Amino acid sequence: MDPIRIAIVGIGKIARDQHVPAIRGNNAFSLAATVSPHDAGLDGVPHLASLDSLLRDGPAVDAIALCTPPQVRYDLAAQALGRGVHLFLEKPPGATLAEVGALQAQADKVGVSLFAAWHSRFAAGVAPARAWLAERRIESVSIVWREDVRVWHPGQAWIWQPGGLGVFDPGINALSIVTHILPRPFFLRDATLTLPDNRAAPIAADLHFRDTGGAPIHMDLDWRQTGPQSWDIVVETDAGTLKLSQGGAVLHLPSGTEHGEDVEYPGLYSRFAALIRGGRSDVDTDPLRLVADAFLRGRRETTDAFHD
Ligand code: NAP
Repeated sequence: MDPIRIAIVGIGKIARDQHVPAIRGNNAFSLAATVSPHDAGLDGVPHLASLDSLLRDGPAVDAIALCTPPQVRYDLAAQALGRGVHLFLEKPPGATLAEVGALQAQADKVGVSLFAAWHSRFAAGVAPARAWLAERRIESVSIVWREDVRVWHPGQAWIWQPGGLGVFDPGINALSIVTHILPRPFFLRDATLTLPDNRAAPIAADLHFRDTGGAPIHMDLDWRQTGPQSWDIVVETDAGTLKLSQGGAVLHLPSGTEHGEDVEYPGLYSRFAALIRGGRSDVDTDPLRLVADAFLRGRRETTDAFHD
């Protein structure tokens, strides 16, 4: 079978760190081109300054991975789908829920695969955590996602702008895991979003959810953590405590601890290839919906200005 010719649109931090090695490590794909307005691209790979130029003058492609900031994602995605190209959307899949719905309808109509990728769901501990929790009664959940924005998002202006999500940019990764591993749906009860007085997006958030069985779910997001970073989910159950740490890579069960390898992006690309070969799409907006609800229902408070 011929490899799927794929272009990366938005060759920034995540594309270079994860997409390029995952594509090069998967025989189902060949990296046909990259696109970015201000970047020189990669040695030996055709590079174009815009999606327009790629579709007009570039090499033929079967698929595109959209790795831009979310605010510009819809127009690029609609243009690519309009050309009959399979589409991989980095998380979050859009800046609004309605635009993702419109893309899903367009992909169905055109007959191509649309993949709303949630990389944290492919962390090594997540699938076994989901299987273990399926048999348990959930008593409570605690999510602590505290990191240093200056380390992980240096100088990224878009992340602080409307649609950039602020601290929910990493926080939505935690929600992508929790929506996947808990057996029942859950919803927001109360939230406080803390915004620097010079920024349009939160630097911290405190959220209380409840699942449909009544179990409380608390989420603590903070971008001001220096020193050790925390990406932990603790689930108390009738059969003891489950903990996912290091963003889902390490699973602690009452019976012991399992350390997994870094398989997130290889897993995403295997899934994308399977979707294309099978003529299917995978678009789950649950994590984005919970974030939208936090912006809809949360109270805002202001804190000190943030400077990179
Ligand atoms: P980034 O480093 O700021 O890179 C964004 C890239 O998008 C840049 O190369 C930029 O090009 C390009 N771009 C912007 N507008 C464009 C347009 N109209 N057409 C083509 N390219 C355009 O951001 P990032 O950290 O990689 O994040 C990108 C997405 O990945 C976000 O949704 C983020 O949530 C997600 N993500 C990030 C991480 C992470 O650790 N950073 C992890 C997982 C997922 P120029 O620089 O040339 O202007």
